[in-house]
Amino acid sequence: MFNGHFERIFSTMFLIISSLFVHIAFLVSVVDIYFKSPIVHNIKPQSSPLEAPARRLVLMVADGLRADSFLGADDLFKTNASHLRHVIEEREAWGVSHTRVPTESRPGYVTLIAGLYEDPSAIAKGWKDNPVEFDSVFNESRYTWSWGSPDILPMFAKGASGNHVYIDMYGSEVEDFSGRRSTTRLDTWVFRKVEEFLNHAKTDAVLNEKLHQDKIVFFLHLLGLDTAGHTHKPHSVEYKENIRVVDAGIKRIEEMIEEFYQHDKKTAYVFTSDHGMTDWGSHGAGDKSETETPLVAWGAGVRGPRPSTSAEPSSPASWRLGHLSRSDVSQADVAPLMASLIGIPVPVNSVGTLPRDYLEVTEHHLSELMFSNARQMVAQYNKKRELTEAGSLSWIYKEFSVLNRSKETKLTDQIRSHIRAKRYTESVSTFLSFLCV
Ligand SMILES: [Zn+2]
Repeated sequence: MFNGHFERIFSTMFLIISSLFVHIAFLVSVVDIYFKSPIVHNIKPQSSPLEAPARRLVLMVADGLRADSFLGADDLFKTNASHLRHVIEEREAWGVSHTRVPTESRPGYVTLIAGLYEDPSAIAKGWKDNPVEFDSVFNESRYTWSWGSPDILPMFAKGASGNHVYIDMYGSEVEDFSGRRSTTRLDTWVFRKVEEFLNHAKTDAVLNEKLHQDKIVFFLHLLGLDTAGHTHKPHSVEYKENIRVVDAGIKRIEEMIEEFYQHDKKTAYVFTSDHGMTDWGSHGAGDKSETETPLVAWGAGVRGPRPSTSAEPSSPASWRLGHLSRSDVSQADVAPLMASLIGIPVPVNSVGTLPRDYLEVTEHHLSELMFSNARQMVAQYNKKRELTEAGSLSWIYKEFSVLNRSKETKLTDQIRSHIRAKRYTESVSTFLSFLCV
């Protein structure tokens, strides 16, 4: 009788312990798979050997500006963003930049500027700090000057090696969601600071010398629209008024920069947003209003407007842009675009592919840019393979057969020999087949 009793206790205990073990194993595997940093270190940066089309880049990010609010052309809006609207029609390449979830600020900026989708282990730091330092367009630049919010700028300065990423921020108390103060103050602060900076550079020989070097970046972080969207909602008069202020500020910044560089036609401009905003003023999820952000680029190295083709995604009628070619990108593609415009290596952990539709360069130049993008991805892939191989038991490890060492060498050799033989179209199509792998 006692034997049967002990047997039941023993089997119950066994079931409890084994189910506990299975749950722990599942939990550990979930953490191991999904909360592992995608960032790997010690990768050699790759760049094109040809001279870049632009010497400097001006990146302007209107935080929380959704594509529809910016591109939709109701009468009120058309008046408010008249400058950028005119630029789109006359001298700009444009499209929608598709973000991933979570549609939050930090992941958006990491994707735009580093070309990688947010490090999930950053959740342990409340999406505020870098769990692992990462490479970025700013880090690869010779100098970057940035103005904006203390929530965003420090992570790129902190991640940069050496002291070449400069930040100028307002205090966090200026960010006011109560609706009592105009949200445009956040943007006019940035525009005023850039103006003061350029004026100061005219009499500061050291700064002036730095500003006349190539591979430099100006980053304007414009937080007003995010605050206006949260406080007043995207269809409010305040949000649209904030668009007008951003539009007028960008016009002024472009005029000042062109004047400072004596219209040398060596400045590239990129305007986009980190994430969109729902009608009720929130973001974070995957609704189209949150994941569709505008991307417009103009200036040195960027193509002008051209007629649309049937192969392109159609736009809502309210945008009134159906006649112009629309080039959509994934948000991570903005990093290689910016890097290619000023001739710096694509950030080493970037997963973005160069959106060639935005460029106006020779076929040879385009081939070299795409080849350096391919080498950057291969270097990253090889480093990850090395780490996986080193961390696995040799009898379990199996090479990824779709892109093993010999296939990868064959593809890169093919691209190299096409470029040497001036078969540029073939080199680009080999690169595209590499992406399909
Ligand atoms: Zn944001």
